[in-house]
Amino acid sequence: MHLNKVSLQARHISLSYGRTEVLKDINILIEPGEFFALLGPSGSGKSTLLRLIAGFNRHQRGELLIDGQDITGTPAHQRNVGMVFQNYALWPHMTVWDNVAFGLVERRAPKDEIKRRVGAALELVGLSAFGERRPGQLSGGQQQRVALARTVVIEPKLLLLDEPLSNLDKNLRVQMREEIKHLQRTLGLTTIFVTHDQEEAMTTADRMAVLDHGILQQVGSAASLFDFPANRFVAGFVGTTNLIDGQITAVHGQHLSFEAPGIGTLSLPTPEGAAQPGASTLAFRPHTVRMCKPAETQESDRFWLSGLVQSCEFLGESSRYRVRVGDLSLIAHEPHFSGAGLHEVGAEVRLGIDPLQVRLLTH
Ligand code: ADP
Repeated sequence: MHLNKVSLQARHISLSYGRTEVLKDINILIEPGEFFALLGPSGSGKSTLLRLIAGFNRHQRGELLIDGQDITGTPAHQRNVGMVFQNYALWPHMTVWDNVAFGLVERRAPKDEIKRRVGAALELVGLSAFGERRPGQLSGGQQQRVALARTVVIEPKLLLLDEPLSNLDKNLRVQMREEIKHLQRTLGLTTIFVTHDQEEAMTTADRMAVLDHGILQQVGSAASLFDFPANRFVAGFVGTTNLIDGQITAVHGQHLSFEAPGIGTLSLPTPEGAAQPGASTLAFRPHTVRMCKPAETQESDRFWLSGLVQSCEFLGESSRYRVRVGDLSLIAHEPHFSGAGLHEVGAEVRLGIDPLQVRLLTH
């Protein structure tokens, strides 16, 4: 299969339905061959943005460019963009072969070319032996693969995937996301994947954009978003986080003082870039918290908070605790090793927070 790699750029895109602004000044540059996820909660505008790229929606402001060319005025059928829908939208009365051939027949491709390309697409998704079946005779995962074959057979410039895994059960979802990633790598096709599931986005995409209420919150790799969330929303949506609202009371060069009710004043390393005195939120991941009994040794490179265990979930590899510290409820994730007991609900514990693993968020 011969596919060109293209870039896609959204520049100051805004879209409203009536008076409701659903996309607000969206700026994204997706690189040629990139696997890019649009991640956000339900209603954040992900599908609207994807449908806009496909040409099913029109934005009122801004530009949409493929390889630098504005496609705003190009109708959907002339964009050569392939979209896989959530429900696959296969024709139930047609065989798998005919479903995959459909787009080529519509484009009046020569018969021998159709045969060659459909054969190659079915082989690509491992369904060469299933051409004569109808979609109803296939498992959910196989139907998904037919939908993918049918989309890539037309050799689109862009592959758009709208929550493609949401109809599959959990094990199959994990398998299919690996398959989709493999297919994308094999074809090198610029791919945009919509999902509300952060794990799905993190495990498949090279980079992702996090959306909330039609506003782009942050763009980056999974690790950069996880380690350096730009704001409270991203910190809470990409992974789990503990948030403590407080104030930066003073900045002294390499260190600053952060004060919050119930925990007192902490001395923290000043983050790169400017840190200003004023309202701020301390964010840290549950797995970076060390938890111990009051009598156990508490390393001096952490700051320690006293609390009471509110709940414990034993997950096998780890245990997830909720601990009440003053008015706060914090989460600590402890790795589990056989023989190590669990902290009981109601027990007094200390939580050790690593100053190098905290982030200060200003909004
Ligand atoms: P997501 O894909 O992130 O779940 P959508 O893009 O589907 O979000 O929807 C974003 C917002 O736009 C929602 O508030 C939704 O109700 C609204 N919306 C979507 N489509 C339409 C439409 N055709 N008319 C009016 N409002 C719409």
